[in-house]
Amino acid sequence: MPEGDTVHRQCRILHEALAGATLTRCELRVPRLADTDLRGWRVREVVPRGKHLLLRLLPPADGAGEPLTLHSHLMMDGIWFVDDKPLISSDTSRARRPAHTARVILEARHDDGRVARATGYEIKQVHLLRTAEEDSEVGHLGPDLLSPAWGPALREQAAANLAAQADLPLGQVLLDQRVMAGVGNIYRSELCFLQRISPFAPVSALSDPGALVDLAHRLLDLNKDRSVRVTTGGMMGRGGDLWVYGRAGQPCRRCRGRVERRMMAQPDVEGAQPRVVFVCPRCQGESR
Ligand SMILES: [Zn+2]
Repeated sequence: MPEGDTVHRQCRILHEALAGATLTRCELRVPRLADTDLRGWRVREVVPRGKHLLLRLLPPADGAGEPLTLHSHLMMDGIWFVDDKPLISSDTSRARRPAHTARVILEARHDDGRVARATGYEIKQVHLLRTAEEDSEVGHLGPDLLSPAWGPALREQAAANLAAQADLPLGQVLLDQRVMAGVGNIYRSELCFLQRISPFAPVSALSDPGALVDLAHRLLDLNKDRSVRVTTGGMMGRGGDLWVYGRAGQPCRRCRGRVERRMMAQPDVEGAQPRVVFVCPRCQGESR
C-alpha cells in the first residue's frame, strides 16, 4: 500500500497538471458513476488526506450545482499517470498498466489552451460526493502527518491516539489510519527499527509515543518530494535507502545480525489481510 508521502507527491503533480483547467473528458469506469458527465467542471485543487486523494471540482460557470469532490484511494496497486508518465517513486517495474485497468480518465484544458491528461489505474474507492460532505469518506482519519496544519495540536492528538491503543501490537496500530494518517507498510518497519522496538510489542512498551509521532512526521515530510524514499539519512550510498524493509536475510546495518521477514495480522485496519513486516530481532529487543 502506498505510503502517505507517495500519495502526497502524486497529488502535487496532479494538482500542478490540472488545477484551474476545465474538464473536456471525464470517464469514471466504476459502475455507480459510469453515466457521470463532468465536462465543463473546473478543477479547483487536488489534495491528499492521509492516503486518500481528493480532487475538488467547481461547477461550470453557467450551471448550477455545488462543488464536488472526486475521492479515491490507491490501495495496494493504484497509480496515477499524467500525460502518460507514471507518478511513482522508484519501482518502475510497476509502471506499465493495461488500458482496461484505467478507472478514471480525465482531460482538462487550461485557459491558455494547454491540455493535461490524467489517468488513474487500479485506483479504488472511487466516489463522487459534495465537497461539503468529504468527511463521510475521510472524517475517520486521525491527524494527517503531512497536513499543512501539522503542529503541536495534531502531534499531541496523534500521540494520544497511539497511547490509547496500549495493549495492541505497535506494528498493527501504526497502520491504523484512525490513529494517524500516512504511515504505510514500509514506514511501519522503519519506524519500529529506528525506535528499537519490535512491531509485535504492545504500544505500552513505547517509552515516548510523541517521539514516535515526531519521527513519523519527520520521515514522511523529508520524503514527500523525493522520488526515492530514504530513512537512513542517505549516508549509505546506493541501495542503502532503508534500514530493514525488504532486507530479509541481509545483515542489519546497525548490528550485522540478520534481518527477518514476518507476517503480521491486520484486523480492523484498511486492507485487512496480513502484511509483511521486517525486523532486526537483536536491535529491536526480541532476542534478549
Ligand atoms: Zn540489528
